[in-house]
Amino acid sequence: MTIPATAFDPPLTACPLCGSTAIAAHDHDYRGARIARCRACGVRFMNPQYTDAYLAEYYATYIQEELESPERKARRLAHKTANVAALERFMAPGRFFSIGCGDGLELQVAKARGWQVEGYDVDPVTTARVAKKVGATVYTGDLFALPLECGAYDCVYLDQVLEHPKNPGDYLRLCHRLLRPGGVLYIGVPNIASAASTFKSALGKAGLKKRRGKHYDTFHHLFYYAPSTLPRLLESRYGFRVERVMGDPKPRAKPSVIGRAWDAVVRRVPMLDSSFAVIARPVKGASK
Ligand SMILES: [Zn+2]
Repeated sequence: MTIPATAFDPPLTACPLCGSTAIAAHDHDYRGARIARCRACGVRFMNPQYTDAYLAEYYATYIQEELESPERKARRLAHKTANVAALERFMAPGRFFSIGCGDGLELQVAKARGWQVEGYDVDPVTTARVAKKVGATVYTGDLFALPLECGAYDCVYLDQVLEHPKNPGDYLRLCHRLLRPGGVLYIGVPNIASAASTFKSALGKAGLKKRRGKHYDTFHHLFYYAPSTLPRLLESRYGFRVERVMGDPKPRAKPSVIGRAWDAVVRRVPMLDSSFAVIARPVKGASK
């Protein structure tokens, strides 16, 4: 059950997102993964992190669900539709680039709503299938070496992506380059500061949890963001102006008057939700 020591790089001595060397041990999980916290920007991250070889092997066997129940598909469709509708409050449909587009559902949703869509993901077999299904360009390979047009996109979209890579700062710099002035960055990430996660962390530290730190999901999540950390980093280090921080716009599984009212509350109070979304625009010419 414990992760082998060979799966890890040497420990990081500086925060990968802000560069500060003021990093401290914060928590660990039941498999032996260690979580650090940057005292400067507040972001938590696995430290040491997995080796590239370990991650390559993990993602090689990370097969996306192709057979899902109609109920689950309908829920995901409603979720993606809500996400795209939320960002459309800040940007009319134009060029849309989804990094980590998975099975392409959000590309289909955005295309149907009038966006010109392109995507990127790591698995060449899946991306070829998604490109055909959606009728769009879906890139694979080295994200940072793609022939993408800079300053050309109206929206760059990363939903449940930024917690995975070892270099999230490179992703944010790429987003800044790709967006046109006034364009919109949409980021959805798990919320490590949600009420539920905070409670689970406290139970773990008190020794009251069988699988301590399970909510960090260290099988493939390396960074742990909060509404108090990521938006501030976007503004202070990555040249964005944050327009909105909200609980994930997903609708409840069973719509009802109470469910819809709760959705509205969660959007305004991100700590109530297990993930949150940030909408930001690049400040062109800003240092980054
Ligand atoms: Zn930091």
